[in-house]
Amino acid sequence: MNISTIHSHAVGERRTYPGEETAQALIDFLNDPQTPRQSKRRIEQLLSESSRRQTAAEPVTRHMTEKMLRLLNIKESAKIPQALRGAPFLDRPRAGQDGAFKHASWKIASLLRAYRLTPIFFATVDGRWIIDWYTASKKTRSEATALLKALDLAARGLLSRVRKCKDPDCPRGLHPDSPSGPLWFYQGPSHNHFHSLKCQQHYFHSDPNQKKKHAAEMRLYRLNEKRRKERENQVW
Ligand SMILES: [Zn+2]
Repeated sequence: MNISTIHSHAVGERRTYPGEETAQALIDFLNDPQTPRQSKRRIEQLLSESSRRQTAAEPVTRHMTEKMLRLLNIKESAKIPQALRGAPFLDRPRAGQDGAFKHASWKIASLLRAYRLTPIFFATVDGRWIIDWYTASKKTRSEATALLKALDLAARGLLSRVRKCKDPDCPRGLHPDSPSGPLWFYQGPSHNHFHSLKCQQHYFHSDPNQKKKHAAEMRLYRLNEKRRKERENQVW
């Protein structure tokens, strides 16, 4: 039995949360010891660049845009500046993060550009098409699936929920064929940083300083969130 089998059973009957089902194939791909190293590395790169970009970005909210339009005294949509038409709510670089923002954007674009995908019509089930995706040359089929799931999550703003367990000793032989290194998981309402409760407990019990560090990180996160909200309310 491989990891994907174990995981799909674990979902069981309980309610799922947004993106969870989509993420499963991606998580399985990342945690499967059979996944070719290069394949895994490409998808991991995509995830890390996405998270770098997100750290360097701040959203331009509807609220901010509306305030700006009010400030400019623009009431009719016809008078909205050309640059804002079509995509008025694009993210922008955080102050001082211009370089990091652009670099991560460029990396994401170039990682994606390297893929050539071909849809393969496979069969139908109750009239629904079953389409499989093949990648050109050396890239594997499972990589194509993982990529498409990642793009699906990314389009819904959920890619940052795909995370690596924070416990450096994860997974400590949970599965006989477990990969080396911490497992990937999809962030849910009850688990933010660890793929399991066991890992969370291990992490905090193994080193009392970790608890302090974690608390400090969470404080910083909340402070950043607070500042972000304040910025949103500022008049441009
Ligand atoms: Zn873990």
